[in-house]
Amino acid sequence: VLRLENVRKAFGRDTLVLRDVNLDVAPHTVTALIGASGSGKSTLLRCANLLEEIDDGVIFLDGEDITDPGADADAVRRRIGVVFQAYNLFPHMTVLENITLAPHRVHGVPREQATRRARELLDRLGLAEKAGAYPDRLSGGQQQRVAIARALAVRPRLLLLDEITAALDPELVGEVLNVVRDLKGDGMTMVLATHEMGFAREVADQVCFLDDGVVLERGTPEQVFGDPQEERTRRFLRRIV
Ligand code: ATP
Ligand code: MG
Repeated sequence: VLRLENVRKAFGRDTLVLRDVNLDVAPHTVTALIGASGSGKSTLLRCANLLEEIDDGVIFLDGEDITDPGADADAVRRRIGVVFQAYNLFPHMTVLENITLAPHRVHGVPREQATRRARELLDRLGLAEKAGAYPDRLSGGQQQRVAIARALAVRPRLLLLDEITAALDPELVGEVLNVVRDLKGDGMTMVLATHEMGFAREVADQVCFLDDGVVLERGTPEQVFGDPQEERTRRFLRRIV
């Protein structure tokens, strides 16, 4: 679904964040990006969604080079749903309006159809009774689930999740992780940046360890967590668990 080849991204002249990143995401799989703070996980996700322009390399979405200057960035973003750490819901809109905004206003889906889809999603995420509520009336976990519903509203090919539980109180983390488990059950292709190693181990098909601007090590959770090949991976995992 997604493929990064020799991707390079620097901010200014001195901060080379992605030196030479290669990544391959197969359909219906979950990829967990792990690595120290500042290793470039968020930058990688932002590049994949064309929120950042890369300096070198190629990114393919379903075989199409989306980094080609001629690529239609809006069309690309419609196929990729993103959820960030801070839920970024529009505070002056109800839950339902938050979810229907992009499909209806941006992508021209008729209001009725967008609303139907939004209610379906809210139902699935256990938020049916919150459709008319404003974000500030919801818990952090509920807000984050709305953000996931909003990302799913356009039926993306791929979902990018950046530390979606990092801003949550510990007791609210579980309900959001449950949503990710459910989506995996549905076969949704996902790439998630996370510091939750236990969750990465459980849910990921592929774990990628980012270090010094490259994917230093990749493999199944059993390989990367159970038998890391690189000294730097071992050191990172020792520090974090
Ligand atoms: P964390 O685990 O803390 O979320 P991360 O792996 O997501 O970290 P990034 O947010 O991708 O790391 O940041 C990687 C590096 O890029 C950091 O050194 C950061 O300071 C730098 N960086 C990110 N965005 C910008 C920007 N817009 N301008 C300049 N530097 C940036
Ligand atoms: Mg980050």
